[in-house]
Amino acid sequence: MAYCILNIALDTPLTSCFDYRWSCAAGEEPRVGQLALVSFGRREVVGLIVAVKHDTDVPADKLKDALAVRSQLSPLSPQWIALAAFAADYYQRPLGEVALPGLPKNLRVLTTVALDRALKKLAKSAPAHDHTPLDMPVLNGAQQEAADTIGGAQGFTPILLYGVTGSGKTEVYLQACAEVLAREEGGQILILVPEINLTPQLEGNIRARFPGVMLATLHSSLSEGERMLHWLAAHQGQARIILGTRLAILASLPHLKLIVIDEEHDPSYKQQEGLRYSARDLAVWRARQLGIPIVLGSATPSLESWHHAGSGRYRKLELRERAVKDAVLPRVKLLDMERDKPVDGITSHLMAALRQRLERGEQSLLFLNRRGYAPVICCESCGWISNCTRCTSFMVLHKPEHRLRCHHCSLELRIPRHCPTCGNVDLQPLGRGTQRVEEGLQQVFPQARILRIDADSTRLKGSAQAAFDTVHRGEVDILIGTQMVAKGHDFKKLTLVGILNPDTALFSQDYRASERLFAQLMQVAGRAGRAARTEGGSVSEVLIQTRYASHPLYSAVVNHDYDRFATDLLAERRQAALPPYLYQALLRAEAPELATAIGFLESARDALAFHGITLNDPIPMTMTRVHNVDRAQLLVESPSRPALQAFLKEWLALLRAMKSRVKWSLEVDPLDI
Ligand code: ADP
Ligand code: ZN
Ligand code: ZN
Repeated sequence: MAYCILNIALDTPLTSCFDYRWSCAAGEEPRVGQLALVSFGRREVVGLIVAVKHDTDVPADKLKDALAVRSQLSPLSPQWIALAAFAADYYQRPLGEVALPGLPKNLRVLTTVALDRALKKLAKSAPAHDHTPLDMPVLNGAQQEAADTIGGAQGFTPILLYGVTGSGKTEVYLQACAEVLAREEGGQILILVPEINLTPQLEGNIRARFPGVMLATLHSSLSEGERMLHWLAAHQGQARIILGTRLAILASLPHLKLIVIDEEHDPSYKQQEGLRYSARDLAVWRARQLGIPIVLGSATPSLESWHHAGSGRYRKLELRERAVKDAVLPRVKLLDMERDKPVDGITSHLMAALRQRLERGEQSLLFLNRRGYAPVICCESCGWISNCTRCTSFMVLHKPEHRLRCHHCSLELRIPRHCPTCGNVDLQPLGRGTQRVEEGLQQVFPQARILRIDADSTRLKGSAQAAFDTVHRGEVDILIGTQMVAKGHDFKKLTLVGILNPDTALFSQDYRASERLFAQLMQVAGRAGRAARTEGGSVSEVLIQTRYASHPLYSAVVNHDYDRFATDLLAERRQAALPPYLYQALLRAEAPELATAIGFLESARDALAFHGITLNDPIPMTMTRVHNVDRAQLLVESPSRPALQAFLKEWLALLRAMKSRVKWSLEVDPLDI
């Protein structure tokens, strides 16, 4: 029997490709892209065959045999392997750590028999073809032009679809999809959304529009079984539309012809642990590699994408008006909290506006990005406050649950009956979260149907969906929510949005905070006035409570002027030499003592000098301690991306060789610094 050598990528740190021997007749060698079962240490694991060879440097007595090759699964394509290899290289991780966790777990752990059974189940789950598709609405001129441009684009064409909230971007995507599906036999389309639980309308829309087309969804709340079926449907080409969150960018899509990224500015496209990749950036790379169009849609594009549109690298398409006839953008007003002092967090002006909506049977939304009852409790006699004992943060009061909770390490305590320091029984909540706003409003409007939607009220699976359904059915008068309510929802009966306390983000140390605040305000404001104004109905309004009414960010929001805001912000970034005019990487270290983490970063800083690279001094992270661990960071900067990449490669080799006991990680293109 002849044999060959399989070079196999495994999900292991540091080195990840290993040689194994495989006995087979000549001409029957396994193929690159197939999965193989091998023994590694004391475990049996599945790896990805990245090369098939006939010799190896591994001595014969050390060379192990591969245990099985998963031949029933068609190989992952060279393009897919190239994508994983690019991501591994760019984010400085071993190939196996990128390629394998992206595959469904069942594909990795199942026995051959079980895998066959899965595969059979998929063959049976073909979609029905007997529904008539829901009619496509007639697009307006700007939408039609956008859909035609996207649908007709050939070759690598990055397109920024910049459209105000409610301008009908979804319709544009769907009609462009229809064109691509009709033109490209077997062609696949990948649609990425920030959070699938918050956009169930889109999934329903796609199913209704394309009833004869198999849709696969890929996101983190699927069960392993579902994930496997959907992944396979994509991999084998049966699924022609794949709707997913950031992790779907690493799906195997052999016939990919179009990528759509909705709300492309959304921070959740960035994975914040492990392989810290940007799904948006990888998507653009993937589109270029395959020579296909990619659409980045947003009402408030990221400055990176705006910059590319400005320089002509991306094509910009604009939708300036709301799609529904006679629906107009809401009127935005600033309420000065210095003059109109809020009671229970709400100014008299906002209260009057709420009362008017209640009288007219219209819906209102109050936005406050802080869950819980109060961010902290304190003792007024001795000054004690509810700090978390494990983190640099407060224990948040959750009144309905009778608990204090740390939102960073999940520590939970019963609410103390008296001050732990002086025994005073009169502990006071400080500040205001969604629960407290709900309680206050219910007292003012006992008849009103008030619903709070935040991470606490929607813990159970399916409860968020149920809550949004009640809003859509009109069974809610006042909706109170965190950022969960800001995204995507098409609330038709909403004519008032009140924004309670956005000021804190204005003075954040993070230079991206204002970009984010602006996007968030525009997005939540965009929930109002999405239907045409009814006879005798209110003009839709957005009321922002602030102490800094003259801040330029707010004037831009009042004027719905993203162009101006983004252009000014880009000019500032250029002046201050910040991204996108500068490339960054962040080395983080954590240890029980801060000095240990800083010490490691100092040796890292001194390990390598490199032309064109700036290594800043290590500093503690803003939230220094989490769960009894201190964290520090070192920022690396360069005006040149290739220089940064070259530096990181050499530097990481040195850092690994230091074999420090400090836990560290590197992030390329960090968002939070
Ligand atoms: P966006 O994603 O840009 O915020 P949506 O895609 O949610 O906007 O569309 C907003 C609303 O406009 C939806 O209710 C949608 O059904 C409606 N709509 C979109 N296009 C049209 C059109 N051409 N004619 C009528 N209504 C439309
Ligand atoms: Zn006290
Ligand atoms: Zn904590």
